[in-house]
Amino acid sequence: MTVESTVTIKPPPEELAAIESAATSLHDAGPRDILDWLFQRYPQGVTLASAFGNTSDIVLMDMVAKAAPGTEVFYLDTDFLFEETYDLIERSRAFWPDLDFREHRTHLTPEQQALEYGEALWERQPDLCCDIRKVQPIHTALEGKSAWITGVRRDQAASRANAPAVGWDAKFGLAKANPLVTWDEKQAWAYIFEHDLPYNLLHDQGYPTLGCTHCTRAVQPGEDQRAGRWAGTGKLECGLHSE
Ligand code: SF4
Repeated sequence: MTVESTVTIKPPPEELAAIESAATSLHDAGPRDILDWLFQRYPQGVTLASAFGNTSDIVLMDMVAKAAPGTEVFYLDTDFLFEETYDLIERSRAFWPDLDFREHRTHLTPEQQALEYGEALWERQPDLCCDIRKVQPIHTALEGKSAWITGVRRDQAASRANAPAVGWDAKFGLAKANPLVTWDEKQAWAYIFEHDLPYNLLHDQGYPTLGCTHCTRAVQPGEDQRAGRWAGTGKLECGLHSE
């Protein structure tokens, strides 16, 4: 197997025009304006992606639970998440009973992956490992949806500095909203503390963002928030976001 090629899916012209207009008008908007636009434009078929490994996703679960109870929240269980992340998933299910949590995972167990591709694929071909354990399952998660919400913020990394508030996700073929795009880490923490929300306990131990155990380390003071992800490999993103 090779990492899947980039396929772009175009929306109907009128859909693209509406999204592009909103991307301009909402470029510097706050999360509530962006969520208002999203749920008015797409009353059905919106799903929120959560990794349970960063502050943005926590803030968004709370905002979405209040703005549109019953909204689906999906997460990808790669089989390599931290124990603290699995613990947060359970605490979140209890904290937001009005959200519709859905789990997605690859059909390959870690043992099957090792048999088929060799041991420690994440060390040799992290893009292929992410493709198997994240990108392919997310296609299933987003199938038939109108729009997805993510916690992408412009302050998270240089690669995200120009992230739009809303846009058309040509890779997955649906609209995409980043309601916290103008926020920073300080604002996210202020919201979490103000509303006494659950969060990943590894944030208190030097992990501003968390993915899989094999590919996440704590960051040092002054480092980029995402410096602990795939450190030393040159890899910046798992293939879910193109910003
Ligand atoms: S983050 Fe690492 S272990 Fe997880 S799917 Fe990607 S390469 Fe594999």
